[in-house]
Amino acid sequence: MQGNSDRCAPPLVLVADDSAAVRAVLRGGLETAGYGVIEARTGQEAIDQAGSNDVSVILLDVEMPVLDGHRTLAALKANPSTRDVPVVFLSDRGAGEDLVQALREGAHDYLRTPPEPAELVARVGAANRMKQLQDELRRRAVELEQVSRTDHLTRLPNRRHVEERLRAVLASALRHGHPAAVLVVDVDHFKSVNDQRGHAAGDQVLVQIASTLAAAVRAEDILGRWGGEEFIVVAAHTTRGAAAVLAERLRSAVETLTPVTVSVGGACTAEVGLRVVDVADANLYAAKTAGRNCVVVEGAR
Ligand code: GH3
Ligand code: MG
Ligand code: MG
Repeated sequence: MQGNSDRCAPPLVLVADDSAAVRAVLRGGLETAGYGVIEARTGQEAIDQAGSNDVSVILLDVEMPVLDGHRTLAALKANPSTRDVPVVFLSDRGAGEDLVQALREGAHDYLRTPPEPAELVARVGAANRMKQLQDELRRRAVELEQVSRTDHLTRLPNRRHVEERLRAVLASALRHGHPAAVLVVDVDHFKSVNDQRGHAAGDQVLVQIASTLAAAVRAEDILGRWGGEEFIVVAAHTTRGAAAVLAERLRSAVETLTPVTVSVGGACTAEVGLRVVDVADANLYAAKTAGRNCVVVEGAR
């Protein structure tokens, strides 16, 4: 049987019922079927237990003192950390209206107490399968999101991700009057690396440059692959002077540690505002014209 965060642990069922006798019957049936069980005696205890444990299914009594099942369900559904845990309502044989209302309020299923052991296991099993599938879909969505933001060759953030972060950094810089800098790093004569050593070797040089740049930037800088053999650094809270120092550090690291050199163009919002990427690009072009393997971090162009 599949568990939650720890895939080897048995799924955990929270049994919330004010009757000790009912809790004991449910615990017995569930443990026999391989589930872990925790208990709550009141609605509030159920909310607390669900919030602090990785619960796969909640069995919730309709009639409990103080906070009844409906209000407990509403609280569970209002909390993002418990919202997606399927709730199976427990009710004695007479309560048809209550169950219809509970299903409308977001309960996954219901179970009449005392339950047939086989029915208990079947209904909890169905709820648990739904929860596991939902968790798996969420994990895959997170993975896909990660993949869609990562450059597959260098493993650096890709252009899409950097553009998004760049927008946020620029908006914050302009709003709060902080400087933010952008550096564009372009490999010199990279075409000839491909021509002389082949495309696969060229790829490996790009990987090497990526890790060299990653080691040379500060933890708070955003480094990404901007295009083919172009990288970008977005540095919040960075003046043009500090950006020039960083640019030189990047250039020198690549020259020392890889078989190629880079040219770097940089600019700072303090001088050029939202045109910072365009000006950094123009400065890169100036660095190329000046002979390559150098940095140009100038103000307005
Ligand atoms: P410059 O100093 O003016 O920048 O010269 P350059 O040769 O680096 O510039 P150019 O733009 O002429 O050529 C860039 C080359 O980068 C051409 C392209 O095939 C290569 N390139 C782009 N992306 C990749 C990649 O992912 N892998 C490899 N191996 N090569 C790539
Ligand atoms: Mg280029
Ligand atoms: Mg180039």
